[in-house]
Amino acid sequence: MGVRARCREGRVINLEGNPEHPGSNGSISARVAAQTQGLYNPDRLAKPLRRTDGGQLAEIEWPEAMETLRIWFRERLDAGRAGAIAWLTGEIADSDAAVIEAFAQALGTRPPVNLRLQPEGNLAAAARDLFGYSGVPEYRIDQATFLVSFGADFLETWGDPVAQIGAFTKMHAHREGVVGRAIYVGPRQSSTAASCDRWVKLAPGKEAAALRVLIEGIGAGEAAHALSTVPLAAAQQVLGDELSRTLLALGQEVAAAEAPLVIANGSGPDGAQARALALLATHLAGGTGRTIIFPQVPRPPRGARHGEVKSLLDDVQSGAVEMLLVHSANPAFLMPGGRAALEAAGTVVHFGTQHDETAHLADLVLPIHHFLETWGYHQCSASALGLIQPAMRPVPRQLPDDQPYPQHLAGSGTAKLDAGLMRFDSRPFPDTVFLLDAILDTGVFGPSAELPHGLKSAEDHFVARVMAFAAEHPEVMEGLAPAAFLREAKRRGVLIAPVPSQPVTLRSDASLPAQNPVESGSITALLFPHPFLVDGRDADKPWLQEIPETSTAAVWDTWAEIHPATAEGLGVGLGDSITLARDGAEITVPVLPLEQVMQGVIAVPIGNGHERMGRYAAGVGANPMPLAHVAQSGDNLVLHGFTVETRAQAGTGELVRTTFMQTQLGRPLAQATDLAHAGERTDYPGVHFDTGQPGSNLRSMYERHEATVHEQFMWGMTVDLDACVGCGACVAACYAENNVPFVGKELIRKGREMSWLRIEKYVEDTGEVRHLPNLCQHCHNAPCEPVCPVHAAYHTYEGLNGQVYNRCVGTRYCSNNCTYKVRRFNWFDYHHVPEPLNLLFNPDVTVRERGVMEKCTFCTQRIRKGREDARRAVLDQGDEAYQAARPEDGAITPACAQACPAKVFHFGNMADPTHEVNAIRQGPRSYHLLGDLGTRPSVTYLKKVVREGEIAVHTHAAPHDESVVEPATEGSTHAHE
Ligand code: SF4
Repeated sequence: MGVRARCREGRVINLEGNPEHPGSNGSISARVAAQTQGLYNPDRLAKPLRRTDGGQLAEIEWPEAMETLRIWFRERLDAGRAGAIAWLTGEIADSDAAVIEAFAQALGTRPPVNLRLQPEGNLAAAARDLFGYSGVPEYRIDQATFLVSFGADFLETWGDPVAQIGAFTKMHAHREGVVGRAIYVGPRQSSTAASCDRWVKLAPGKEAAALRVLIEGIGAGEAAHALSTVPLAAAQQVLGDELSRTLLALGQEVAAAEAPLVIANGSGPDGAQARALALLATHLAGGTGRTIIFPQVPRPPRGARHGEVKSLLDDVQSGAVEMLLVHSANPAFLMPGGRAALEAAGTVVHFGTQHDETAHLADLVLPIHHFLETWGYHQCSASALGLIQPAMRPVPRQLPDDQPYPQHLAGSGTAKLDAGLMRFDSRPFPDTVFLLDAILDTGVFGPSAELPHGLKSAEDHFVARVMAFAAEHPEVMEGLAPAAFLREAKRRGVLIAPVPSQPVTLRSDASLPAQNPVESGSITALLFPHPFLVDGRDADKPWLQEIPETSTAAVWDTWAEIHPATAEGLGVGLGDSITLARDGAEITVPVLPLEQVMQGVIAVPIGNGHERMGRYAAGVGANPMPLAHVAQSGDNLVLHGFTVETRAQAGTGELVRTTFMQTQLGRPLAQATDLAHAGERTDYPGVHFDTGQPGSNLRSMYERHEATVHEQFMWGMTVDLDACVGCGACVAACYAENNVPFVGKELIRKGREMSWLRIEKYVEDTGEVRHLPNLCQHCHNAPCEPVCPVHAAYHTYEGLNGQVYNRCVGTRYCSNNCTYKVRRFNWFDYHHVPEPLNLLFNPDVTVRERGVMEKCTFCTQRIRKGREDARRAVLDQGDEAYQAARPEDGAITPACAQACPAKVFHFGNMADPTHEVNAIRQGPRSYHLLGDLGTRPSVTYLKKVVREGEIAVHTHAAPHDESVVEPATEGSTHAHE
């Protein structure tokens, strides 16, 4: 995932993108930011557990756990029943997968099966059947000039969203000087669809048919033979005349594009066929070798066909598999029928960090280290090997006050751990397998093993892989000696050896996957991965529950999105619930009427509905996965395009959302311009742009600070609305950096969420969507400052809107007066989190108490550090140089800006002309939020650039009041400075 950990006092406090990683490019997602809440989760598995004769799971010590495992393995191996032992893995690192693979192969157990919600197997199979390529082709979204996505939410959950947001920005954002287009074809306007230029509505389950017609528009050419199994007429009949015409025309646009790319989700009844058709469409339009490449060193696909997973679970249920070893997968939650299989299973061993539904059904539970505590590696792409290193010793238990923490952490290496100091008595996963190998005396990892000689720990395994990579690609050594190279590799956290693309041609016998029957009915379901919780494995991280879902602003729940007309037909509305039933499974969820979903479709997010997995996940929402089924061909789980029965439940469904409105009410908040006018200033009527410089046009009764006190520093930020895709990474990063508390569903219902930064989503009448990151604007004429009776809100000499916590008496006048509603009040002592979540607090930032107002500080702690670093650099040059020292442009980056994969934010010193923020904020697209009110914000927005269709213009701005007399120099709000 390309992250690095920031540590203080021996503990991880924050995750940041690794700028040297080609995928993350220094950015993260909300999910990545929240992984520390898994590390310090109070309900993390703390001890090995074994099922007792009474049927309960009871804590045991590691020696007993390993002896139990040894006996269970020996029983089967000695009886020649190695084939009755099976592995099922989830989203694990390649290093763990390699250990399992080697162990399973040597012992003759079944080959491991990898369970993922969106497996790559279908794409790899398509590459093989169409081009004879064995491996996973790679998309080059950044190279595309015309991108069409058939239901693939590539900015949220499909593929690698962090890398793909960065790539999408490159091909689409106006500031990059490109005019790439993106079209989304699907049943729901997801955040990805909202960030594209056009949303073509397509009912669930019709992707393959739609792609077939699209290819006709491109020109079937050399693929005519392969396409004979997918008749055009049948596809057109499925779609109807109007949609067929639209897709034919879209196909012609794809064919005419310089660098086209077509991608498909692959979770429908014809998921495998849709992915293959998308690959074929890209090839026929000329994208091969440019927008999709076939690396010469292929990477094997991750994620088995779901039919394979189902057949494994069937064997578990029937007893053909006697012992199932599960590593970080949760089939009891994710696979329809998974729970029944595990309940009937002979023996289940669970390796993981979470006490989830599968762990709860296991006979033996073995806690493993969190990825931030262990060694490993992961092939992120054909050319990049990500290196996983322990960022801290395993999470320590609470020590008495007279035993300071660092003193007890002498020694190094996970092998030397003193379990008495560890809060969670876990082991690195590879170490457990190596130990099992030793006590079974199987010698898999001994001298004769396939893996390098003498592996004894995860660290050895790591070192062996790094050195093997260097042997395969000597150029990465850069002339360094092995020890120095290893040090450098650890520092970088990633090894990169570009792999050239290999040319491919369409096979003469190219074939497409078979078609599955598609259900039709008046109501079809669409199960989609929640953008933060995805397949449910992150539901135990409270930030991810609390940050508003990107499309609906819903929190801590599962819901049913239904078009208002459909909802009316079903007799439900806001405040009601609906029961969805299929094949004996049913869920009941609150109804959310939304225009952004097609009529006849009920869309439900996947991720919540856990019965287990700790206090933050258990009992939240409902799990829709039992409604899904495996496609008849066994290729994939069918997550949409199937029928469900519905029952209305009047008045029983309250959904908590942080906002109920997606309209600007005619106010020019999130402004836009069109492509033709993006290079020229086009202010809205009545809205004046204030450059913030002396002599600027707005008149005020207040003195201008910059002329008096902000000579050296005046911090400012720009926010490019054209690049923002509403992913929420900035929000999560802000929570992590600034100790922003989570408060839970009940308090959010009362409007007491604490987020310092929120992403406002506005849907125009034209259907166009605008995302507006909203935070404290650090106004130079801040309405919050003069109303504070105790001067807790004040203006700093660096142009920041400061807040002195220990002066604040909680009148909340400032919040009442804030134009932007970005101030948050601590109604309770939220910092009393259960241990060890408290280890997550950033020591550079005050932990606020009950009764105190707080808000965005522009990460003032980072500003202070940047300023001090600049001064430290000139310490030997005398007092004058020290006083004049200023951080260079880019030396200070607030957490939101650092996290954002789209690089929406730009931060700098407005008093230093060398800082780029000055040029950006003077650009033609810039404006101030509600700037006509004269607040003179330090945040400057850049208008979104609308590429297609009519642009909605808002004119309901208050006229600028020319009668205000300027300046009033006495009695100003800043007299106390
Ligand atoms: S500003 Fe925030 S929501 Fe928008 S793209 Fe960046 S991280 Fe995502």
